[in-house]
Amino acid sequence: MRRIRQALAAAAWSACGLAAGASPALAQPFDGCPSAPILERFESFGRSGRMPMELGRWLNDPKAQYIEPFRAFDDVFFVGVCWVSAWVVRTSAGPVLIDTLHEPHVDQLLANLKRVGVDPSALRYVLMTHGHFDHVGGAARIRALAPSARFVMTRRGWDEAMASARQTAGTPRAWSMVDEDVVVADGDTVTVGDTTFRVYETPGHTFGTASYEFPVRDGAARHVAFTVGGLGLNAIQNSGQVEAFIASLRRIEALVARRPDPVTVHLTTHPFSNGLIEAAARLGTRGASQPHPLVDPEGFANQLRTLRAGAEERLEVERKAGR
Ligand SMILES: [Zn+2]
Repeated sequence: MRRIRQALAAAAWSACGLAAGASPALAQPFDGCPSAPILERFESFGRSGRMPMELGRWLNDPKAQYIEPFRAFDDVFFVGVCWVSAWVVRTSAGPVLIDTLHEPHVDQLLANLKRVGVDPSALRYVLMTHGHFDHVGGAARIRALAPSARFVMTRRGWDEAMASARQTAGTPRAWSMVDEDVVVADGDTVTVGDTTFRVYETPGHTFGTASYEFPVRDGAARHVAFTVGGLGLNAIQNSGQVEAFIASLRRIEALVARRPDPVTVHLTTHPFSNGLIEAAARLGTRGASQPHPLVDPEGFANQLRTLRAGAEERLEVERKAGR
């Protein structure tokens, strides 16, 4: 785990926000979606700044990216692919989706939703974390299937999503963004039936990044879950953005330390960031008296601290470069 956490300090999410490689192809370098080697590969990509061909192919290969959807909590299902998450929360008044994946994985997202008993047309809200293609690239197709769903993002998040979609126009990986819908700000809440999602503006990964806090159930137990909207520093423009990221991380760390009602669950936007797939395997074999493997406040606190240490190093680099 230590090595994983050290790697987290580097630019582990560097692919997030970049148009990944060319065409889907044969290579399947990460059978079974193991977190540590994937994280290492992203770390090395982050150092070089150049995406290795086979990584780009892997990101865009639906077969290689397939992982079984799974029930994370009584009311929460993972419906994403190996490298990027989508979560669906079943509230008493209909399902809520968090993030939308990207092509060519939207068919899989739709199949996963059906598999966990969610008809896309029943979606009430789609909460989006930030404007990079891997989180909002699927929004347009979902909107077509979910006419009554409201799409949610921060003011800057919408602007960033529109800009990143525009940048792909005329390229082989062009995607379009849905029209602006609900604009949320820090402290806003979205209540759907028995479940309230609280919005945190957590600038850093992008300026418009939103994170979401909401309750999850495991039998009689209730936990507070959190989705950190952006985890890496690959889209950094200046030291001010890194400072914002550090402040956001401190703020989330305080939620994990909060009493009562600490955040104890990190429903990540990238499974390899915190060993999600391995935790899911433990969930599958969990005995009745064993603790829930995704209820891990210490692991979440460590992840946040490690991200912050990496950001503090990056801040020095940005300052020295006069940015
Ligand atoms: Zn991103």
